[in-house]
Amino acid sequence: MRITLVGFPRLGKNREWKKSLENYWAQHISQKDLLSQAYSLQKEHIRMMSCLDEIPLDFAFYDHMLETSFLLGIIPESLATSPLSSLDQYFALARGYQSSTMERKAWPMKKWFFTNYHYVVPTIDQETIWKPDFFFLSQKISLASETQKPVRITIVGPYTFFKLSRKHHIPAESLKEKLLHAYMTLFSSYPSLLWQIDEPSLVTDMSEEDTKVFLFFYQHLASLYGKNLHLQTYFGDIRDVYQKILSLPFRSLGLDFVDGRENLSLLARYGFPENTLLYAGIVSGRNIWKTPLHSSSLLLSHLTRHIRLENLFLSSSCSLLHVPYTLEGEDLPLEIREKLSFGIEKIEELKNFSHTLLPHLLDQTQEPSLAPFSQPQQNTSLRQDLTKSIQALGERAFQRGMPVEERLALQKASLKLPPLPTTTIGSFPQTAELRKLRQAFQKGILSQEAYEDHLREMIRQSIQKQEDIGLDVLVHGEFERNDMVEYFASFLSGFLTTKNGWVQSYGSRATKPPLIYGDITRLQPMTVSWITYAQSLTKKPVKAILTGPITIINWSFCREDISLREVAYQIALALREEINDLEKESLSIIQVDEAALREKLPLRKQDWKEYLDIAISAFRLATSGIKPQTQLHTHMCYSEFSDIADAIEAMDADVLTIEASRSDLDILEPLREYSHHRDIGPGVYDIHSPRIPSEEEIFSTIKKFLTLIPLHHLWINPDCGLKTRQEQEAYQSLANMVKAVKKIRSTLP
Ligand code: GLN
Ligand code: ZN
Repeated sequence: MRITLVGFPRLGKNREWKKSLENYWAQHISQKDLLSQAYSLQKEHIRMMSCLDEIPLDFAFYDHMLETSFLLGIIPESLATSPLSSLDQYFALARGYQSSTMERKAWPMKKWFFTNYHYVVPTIDQETIWKPDFFFLSQKISLASETQKPVRITIVGPYTFFKLSRKHHIPAESLKEKLLHAYMTLFSSYPSLLWQIDEPSLVTDMSEEDTKVFLFFYQHLASLYGKNLHLQTYFGDIRDVYQKILSLPFRSLGLDFVDGRENLSLLARYGFPENTLLYAGIVSGRNIWKTPLHSSSLLLSHLTRHIRLENLFLSSSCSLLHVPYTLEGEDLPLEIREKLSFGIEKIEELKNFSHTLLPHLLDQTQEPSLAPFSQPQQNTSLRQDLTKSIQALGERAFQRGMPVEERLALQKASLKLPPLPTTTIGSFPQTAELRKLRQAFQKGILSQEAYEDHLREMIRQSIQKQEDIGLDVLVHGEFERNDMVEYFASFLSGFLTTKNGWVQSYGSRATKPPLIYGDITRLQPMTVSWITYAQSLTKKPVKAILTGPITIINWSFCREDISLREVAYQIALALREEINDLEKESLSIIQVDEAALREKLPLRKQDWKEYLDIAISAFRLATSGIKPQTQLHTHMCYSEFSDIADAIEAMDADVLTIEASRSDLDILEPLREYSHHRDIGPGVYDIHSPRIPSEEEIFSTIKKFLTLIPLHHLWINPDCGLKTRQEQEAYQSLANMVKAVKKIRSTLP
């Protein structure tokens, strides 16, 4: 049986590409150097995939949506006609650009479906030039000609592109025409290439109108270029268009049988065209547990009832972009390690499957199900204790003692903050020096005492700077945290962290998700000493910051042998203990970040209720024990609330800070209700870009927010934590923010 992958991790085994990009942005290397490093990295990736029968070429310099935009000519005219090179135009859209002659905000970023990857959201408007720039194909074409195996060049397909891009002042009909034309230009310019067209939006709920849009594109594209098109779907099943796709002449179709179990029934019910190849995603591209051999064999035995073996490729369920590169070099307990499979190991799994899976010998009456990862031996008394305490939870454990209006009044009376209180989301820049010290400490070169002294010194300086700038609610800066999830994981049982298990988050950024393999309890206080130290340095309130249960889960690789609810409640109980300790130290503001609540929303609406109920209940279980006069904040890293406003309300926090600065005011509309009886801090500037916003700009953003949110409910803050910024950028931006607020305050009666 032949094997392939939907895609491969892009940053390199040791995040080489991160270094390349950062060196280029810092002007330490030339564009020529960057291009040659990109080329060698892709060569290396191809080498790692050399056992595949077909190799995906899916590298992106920053992001695949942005890359597709360039191939389609979705580039603002002023950029396209500027003296900047194609690559610099591209980076300008990814990260913003500032020079004496030109200034441009970055295009927004959004989570890629329910993964932790952020894509750049292309903006299509009257400024769009619609003149393709094929620069981003050039390396792939050379690589294709140098590779022994057949290759596919990956782009985002028109339906997904249409659904995910932002459109301004451009009628849908003409937009569809233009998009179709752009894809036709692309395919006809390179008639001999094999294209992988990624269409993950096909696994979301599709209306009749959506189906029409899909057909509009593909009736043309499939009939003209179908023999060169591999249509790849992932993250779920394609129940809404499966039958339609069968009648379109694609060369091959990729289906996900891990997240899209329903795909198997579709296949059984409607069959599969005889002359089309099926790429069956059987190895998870989203989780790191080994694929159970028996259930894969069973799946295969079902598939081969409908498809001849020679028409079948075994593949990953989605791109391996979402898992770490390799287990090699990891130092993990053997009984856990043997259950794991990262990127390179998944290729091994596919290779083994292609030899060992025996579809014809199996009992085909058995229903295939990918058996959940079977867990290493657990501490059974811990398991029983936890189960008992979860079962014993009454309703009261999920409820705060007083209605929000009364609580807020109490809190305002004791905190005595000025109107438009200013604050930050929690982290301050992590300097190169700090990272070095942390590494030295982890390697045992630096003593714990010396490391902690250094952290305290950083806290002291940061509190001083926040006071100098004039912020109202201070933070300790999160210097002790390398990461907002991994840090907590290191104080909880049931978690493991890896040394090098990086997964791309956006551009050059990566996170290192911990693994949840067992039962979770708090081993010791996690944040208390740092936060109380910070509070001891100032009279202003210091906000204690924790990461919430669903965010910890969503930014980890989660076990699959017990329910999500059970894992979430275990974490909530551990956080509840921590919050209890913080209150004992008289901290008056506690923030529980649920940065990732929205991103794991199931892709189909019918599954939302269950997920949201788990997420909200766990948040309430963690936080409801606090006193009414303690102010509960939560932060979320996105600005799309239209369909989850009720859930946000149900979290019952006092203050909500969100990302908003990259988008328009209408995104706040769904929170209008909310902001009339709770406090809210929509980010007034974008921290994902190195650009320093001016006082005037922030001033007008605040004015804009005030048209929607009552003055006494509005907080002023950046849109996320500052840890990825340079110190000077962070403090300068905050100073401008405070100046803008003071100017507004001076006009208040
Ligand atoms: N408190 C975290 C920080 O400031 C929140 C980060 C996030 O929302 N992603 O870094
Ligand atoms: Zn955030």
